[in-house]
Amino acid sequence: MVDLHSHTTASDGALAPRDLVREAARRGVRVLAITDHDTTDGLAEALDEAARYPPLTVVPGIEINCDVEGGEIHILGYLLDYAAEWFQEFCRAQRAERAARVYRIAARLAELGMPIEPREVFDLVKEGAAGRPHIAQVMVNRGYVKSAREAFDKYLHAGGPAHVPRKKLEPGEAVAIVRKARGVPVLAHPGLAGKDELIPGLVRAGLMGIECYYAEHTAAQTAAYVQMCKDLGLLATGGSDFHGPHLGRTNALGSPHVPLAVYEALLAKAREARASA
Ligand code: AMP
Ligand code: ZN
Ligand code: FE
Ligand code: FE
Repeated sequence: MVDLHSHTTASDGALAPRDLVREAARRGVRVLAITDHDTTDGLAEALDEAARYPPLTVVPGIEINCDVEGGEIHILGYLLDYAAEWFQEFCRAQRAERAARVYRIAARLAELGMPIEPREVFDLVKEGAAGRPHIAQVMVNRGYVKSAREAFDKYLHAGGPAHVPRKKLEPGEAVAIVRKARGVPVLAHPGLAGKDELIPGLVRAGLMGIECYYAEHTAAQTAAYVQMCKDLGLLATGGSDFHGPHLGRTNALGSPHVPLAVYEALLAKAREARASA
């Protein structure tokens, strides 16, 4: 069982890296990619813990969210040289922008009659990367909404009344940054993004794969993206986007089923990425 998309407390996941790895091992996951938003800070602990659970392999990754006209595009990066100083500097800048956005969203929520203190958000975030799921949690705590899902559906979704876009980062730039770090860039959950018209441009920027297998994709979407990967010579990946039971999306770890061959194919793409960077 392969799961190439998951989050820890380093960003908006509910489980600490060590606990996520244990949970993955318990569920029989063989390959787990950790793809926190704009941070690789959970990886050291996760890799250390994974060493205690052979044959579980942890794949280092990241997820970079970009706002585009009328929606958002998330770029996953795998097996990159994440320790490079320039890359860590990029991540730090992204996280600083995430923190600044918390203040802007708080101001918007106040205008909507739902004031929150940024402090409440940062208490949840701790050292990690702040995101809308933390804000949603504060809205739940304050009784403005009953669930994080309701907070997103009513207020925080792209284009929603309390949604404030991030500083502009084109998805093609995110792809190029992953390639510069000699990693494999993959378009995350394109069925949620609804921006398929951008895929050719992303491929020109160096995109190497599409996350086809995803819990919220219909069977028809999965089939269409798998076909697209065949046509374009891209890697068809998949993952749960596990965040834990409370924060953000609630897909179960290790679902949907992704064959081990996908991991072999990812390693082949990673060799290609390193050879050409
Ligand atoms: P951000 O990092 O601020 O862009 O927030 C992105 C995260 O919010 C995603 O990784 C999901 O965990 C969560 N999210 C986005 N849209 C929704 C939604 N409609 N329902 C629940 N969670 C969502
Ligand atoms: Zn998330
Ligand atoms: Fe995402
Ligand atoms: Fe994600």
